[in-house]
Amino acid sequence: MFERIDYYAGDPILGLMEKYSADNNPNKVNLGIGIYYDESGVLPVLDCVKTAEARIADPIAPRPYLPMAGLPGHRKGCQELLFGKGAQILQDGLVATIATIGGSGALKVGAEFIHEWFPQSKCYVSDPTWGNHIAIFEGSDVEVGKYPYYDKANSSIKFDEMIAFFETLNKHDVILLHPCCHNPTGMDLTQAQWDTVLNVIKAHELIPFMDIAYQGFGEDMDGDAYAIRKAVEMGLPLFVSNSFSKNLSLYGERVGGLSVVCPTADEAERVFGQLNAMVRRIYSSPPSHGGHVVDIVMNDDALHEQWVGEVYAMRDRIKAMRLKLKSVLEAKIPNRNFDYITRQNGMFSFTGLTPEQVERLQSKYGIYMVSNSRMCVAGLNTSNIDYVANAMADVLKD
Ligand code: PMP
Repeated sequence: MFERIDYYAGDPILGLMEKYSADNNPNKVNLGIGIYYDESGVLPVLDCVKTAEARIADPIAPRPYLPMAGLPGHRKGCQELLFGKGAQILQDGLVATIATIGGSGALKVGAEFIHEWFPQSKCYVSDPTWGNHIAIFEGSDVEVGKYPYYDKANSSIKFDEMIAFFETLNKHDVILLHPCCHNPTGMDLTQAQWDTVLNVIKAHELIPFMDIAYQGFGEDMDGDAYAIRKAVEMGLPLFVSNSFSKNLSLYGERVGGLSVVCPTADEAERVFGQLNAMVRRIYSSPPSHGGHVVDIVMNDDALHEQWVGEVYAMRDRIKAMRLKLKSVLEAKIPNRNFDYITRQNGMFSFTGLTPEQVERLQSKYGIYMVSNSRMCVAGLNTSNIDYVANAMADVLKD
């Protein structure tokens, strides 16, 4: 009966994690998956989260279903983080926000919404992008295309090509954008470039869908939301999916949000209703525990401040690792330019290694990165960075 079912080839990034776990090399280093490990190589539990967990645990409360849209405090937390506390659009009721099952859940509900209400729209993703973007939209029967983004040869962005491409798109086509810390390249647009992109989007009546999974890891909480807030200022309709997996270090709790900015409060109410309907028929309501953690941390001023400090400490540690990696590589291979390492933002660095070099790093040194050469810089620490930098220099020299 099930013989005709295709084998699943596995997810390339999650598969790498399994391969890493099975590797006996005592020096092995995991730079594959996008997870922040601290200086000791441990997945941190943030102090603000510990406090929130203690409050949830005392007393242990009943666990009713949450509303389809999640906890009001979770939704408010998403809105204030993305659009700014006291933002006019929030006061005017122009934003429909639901709490979601991580950033992935937000993308899925967003993709379903696009499929149902904008059936003619295609969705364009950056070349390259996080692989699951394509899978999620195609999985909702939205046709996916790619727009030019990364110039491998120069470790830069193909900005003019990208703009020219956007100008060829049809009204209401969706453009999936990374407001900060582009995954996988780490190369972000400047504010002036964002302005140009958003002007083209406005002129051609395209729909921006901003996926923000690393807010706080690039510049800072507000700076990383520049593109989102600029789109709002320009009066654009806008989808935003956000994830708390990385910046609350709550990967397994599955917490995120989907916000749709609408021209009028009536439209926002309609959209909110349809998002609820979508949730109802896919998974009914979001998880409770993580939702409460988000609610507590985002809405308690002292905890919120502590949280922001903890995110910035993670950001700064990654930046320090970038500097160190760059300096070791420059010393080892003086005729090669490694400036790109510190120009990139967030957890990832597109190293430009060939698939063969990535494979050699794995087999010879037990260093794991994605075959497209994406390295998770947040997996580096002062104990393993020399080992990794020397190994990279070795495979680059061959
Ligand atoms: N968008 C991007 C760009 C991501 O990198 C990720 C996580 N790797 C997600 C969305 C999904 O986030 P979550 O793990 O919260 O589902």
